Amino acid sequence: MQFNELNLSQDILRAVEELGFSEMTEIQQESIPLLLQGRDVVGRSNTGTGKTAAFGIPAVESITENDKKTVSVLILCPTRELAMQACEEIRKFAKYKRIVKASAVYGGASMERQIMELKRGANIVIGTPGRVMDHIRRRTLKLDNLRTVILDEADEMLNMGFREDIEAILADVPEERQTVLFSATMPPEILAITEKYQRDPIQVKIKSAQKTVELIDQYWFMVAMGRKTDALKLLLAAYSPESAMVFCNTKKTVDELSEELIKSGIRAAGLHGDMKQAQRTQVMNSFKAKTTAVLVATDVAARGIDVSGIDAVFNYDLPQDNEYYIHRIGRTGRAGMKGTAYTLITSRRQQYDLKDIARYTKATIAELPLPDKEDIISAKTDAMIREIAEAPRPIENAYDILDRLAAKGVDYREAAARLIGGRLQKEIESLPEFDMPKPLKKGGRAGARTVKIDLSIGRTKKAAPNFILGALVDATGMSGQDFGKIDIFDTHTTVEVPEAEYDYILDSANSMKINGHKVEVKLYKGGSKEKSYSKDRNRSSNRKAAKPDRKKSAYGSRKKTEIFGDYTPNRRKRTKNRH
Ligand code: ADP
Ligand code: MG
Repeated sequence: MQFNELNLSQDILRAVEELGFSEMTEIQQESIPLLLQGRDVVGRSNTGTGKTAAFGIPAVESITENDKKTVSVLILCPTRELAMQACEEIRKFAKYKRIVKASAVYGGASMERQIMELKRGANIVIGTPGRVMDHIRRRTLKLDNLRTVILDEADEMLNMGFREDIEAILADVPEERQTVLFSATMPPEILAITEKYQRDPIQVKIKSAQKTVELIDQYWFMVAMGRKTDALKLLLAAYSPESAMVFCNTKKTVDELSEELIKSGIRAAGLHGDMKQAQRTQVMNSFKAKTTAVLVATDVAARGIDVSGIDAVFNYDLPQDNEYYIHRIGRTGRAGMKGTAYTLITSRRQQYDLKDIARYTKATIAELPLPDKEDIISAKTDAMIREIAEAPRPIENAYDILDRLAAKGVDYREAAARLIGGRLQKEIESLPEFDMPKPLKKGGRAGARTVKIDLSIGRTKKAAPNFILGALVDATGMSGQDFGKIDIFDTHTTVEVPEAEYDYILDSANSMKINGHKVEVKLYKGGSKEKSYSKDRNRSSNRKAAKPDRKKSAYGSRKKTEIFGDYTPNRRKRTKNRH
């Protein structure tokens, strides 16, 4: 169904057409007619399905001459970014309807300016619950004439602790009103709000985000836990996305990871809720302008962000919720464009969780081996050859420089090689080392020569054998059985390791953390007379818990790749044959 089949005024149709919208999305088709009639609606649909227009167009349509000086529509959004974004989009719908004045209010920005804007006769107000409450208390936002309240991303607002504010606002607005709620999920708390504050609401549910998700190729990689950052760097180098988002589960990881990426020369920036508003706006603008290529963000900070042309989404941490997965990968593949989503998996448990996500989203998520450093280098070399071969003729001075170099004994070939070599070197330098652990001799530890490594953590910091082993397995990607006797002393711990693996273990375990403590690892020179709490793991009862899923390399699994979801390898062939 097309927008022009709706009974919309010409002003709005014109603006909508100018935006390039002709066909409505499902949620728009289902909810716009109801909203135009003034019905209460509970809309459930995933990210990227056009909810802003679904409530924004009827909101703009509803404004009349009588609303010139009073707030008629209030839209609540979970974050400042979303409020700003929704406000911008609503202003676009209202481009030819001059009486509409949309205004956004959110925390972390000047109160005075917002008050000024409100005073100038805003009739659609979009805001975060906290700041809206603020304005209501100061009487700078009067809602006596409010006709419609819209809760956008209601579940997220509740997650963020806005429940009290929302209830206070809903209790404060006129009883005769339209209440509209959009949410990606419908937990009981949302249903409670619906029951309490909506009148005879109509449920509009759009089944899973298949439409958006279908256009997104999805892959996963098995990576040893301590090596996620390196794996990400490798992936960014291999796929060199022009614009990518990386999702982490905590603000701390966002800070650490973005810093680490910047250090290796990647144009990255972090985004999370603890940042100042000005900083967040700056980060978003730089990402939109593609000056920042990699945006590292938390789920909440990135919720609903609509930036076009994101080619790839990386799940650095596995999302804690199935819906989050859809929200995250929905940042790419927008507006019918193709996108790719990559997920880093560090354990068997996570593998199961991802399988569950694949089932839930009806998506196909296929395992890929991490790209090979050699492959990346050769691709970069090819790209460089292409670039130079296709480069336009340089300015005349360049030839003068070559001649002067030749006079100094550096011939053309040598001069070019130095330039090219320097550039290639720089690109290669930043690639992480992912040496494969040499496989242990058949027959396991028995008979293999061992040495002891020394870890700077002991009983005083509550080191326990299974923690130590778990951390080592995570950091190295080796099997639990590759490690031998663990002796825990007061301030340090020794672990028996195969001599052949010693270098590799030292290298990969060196920035490892156990119980939140940074642990240094070195060769154990022996001689301590401290009493130890010793555990020969091969006889230990911890064996089962400590035993890793299967043989892994630093790259992760080397066995046949695993594919989750309804993957049919012949699908492409079949469609081909049809033509
Ligand atoms: P949601 O709130 O459901 O995540 P948005 O409202 O942010 O989705 O819309 C996602 C993108 O799709 C926006 O860029 C929006 O301009 C665009 N869009 C919305 N409706 C349509 C439509 N009917 N046709 C084309 N593009 C649309
Ligand atoms: Mg939205």
